[in-house]
Amino acid sequence: TPAIRFLDVSKIYSLRSGDVTALDNVTLSIEEGEFIAVMGPSGSGKSTLLNMMGCLDTPTKGQVFIGERNIGEMTDDELTMLRREHLGFIFQQFNLIPLLSAIENVRLPLILKGGDPGCTDRCMNILAEVGIEVDRLDHTPAELSGGQQQRVAIARALINDPEVLLADEPTGNLDTKTGAQIMDLLVRLQKEEGKTIIMVTHDPTLSEYADRVIRIVDGRIA
Ligand code: ADP
Ligand code: ADP
Repeated sequence: TPAIRFLDVSKIYSLRSGDVTALDNVTLSIEEGEFIAVMGPSGSGKSTLLNMMGCLDTPTKGQVFIGERNIGEMTDDELTMLRREHLGFIFQQFNLIPLLSAIENVRLPLILKGGDPGCTDRCMNILAEVGIEVDRLDHTPAELSGGQQQRVAIARALINDPEVLLADEPTGNLDTKTGAQIMDLLVRLQKEEGKTIIMVTHDPTLSEYADRVIRIVDGRIA
């Protein structure tokens, strides 16, 4: 089974000024373990596509499958469970909670899931795996560099061991060298842990890290 499948998916926003077609009959299939770069001009539909893969948005028309599951046939509670257990999200702005330390940020998804709030070993192991030194565990985001913040955010995305990672401009806030290190980390997660990675980016040089580029223009696959 492919990790993600879109069948004739359209997303239409109805505004007072008229309809906006953000996605126009998109059909695609992403295999387990693939690293995909989604590229295209601003306003072409990249965020809409990623939001739908993340079950944050539903299609106006067509069907979206995450593994075997048709997300159009799931309840909100089921979608929340699916997001928590099978998907990890990585953002341009990192989206860490400023008042929480690195390890507390990573622990948060476990607490939200109703798990054991202890589980310190698991959080420490994952932080070590993404390259955060032990002496940084109690630092808040403001006390970390951009690259370190993104590593913590990646650890948070990994804590529930999702099959799929969805990354929106993950290096957009980082300098070139730090960005390359984060890309190397994502590639390692793909190659060594078999993660499926879908990354939205404007940066053509980043497409070299991906197995395949999905190019979107005006809501269509180009
Ligand atoms: P990208 O991420 O490639 O910049 P988006 O998916 O954000 O593109 O947007 C695609 C199109 O859909 C744009 O024309 C945008 O203005 C429109 N759009 C996106 N989100 C909304 C929304 N919530 N309501 C109305 N229009 C939207
Ligand atoms: P980004 O590309 O940084 O992910 P967004 O997805 O928030 O940015 O927005 C992309 C485009 O979609 C922008 O052009 C924005 O104006 C448009 N857009 C986003 N949300 C809405 C909305 N609620 N109504 C109309 N346009 C929107």
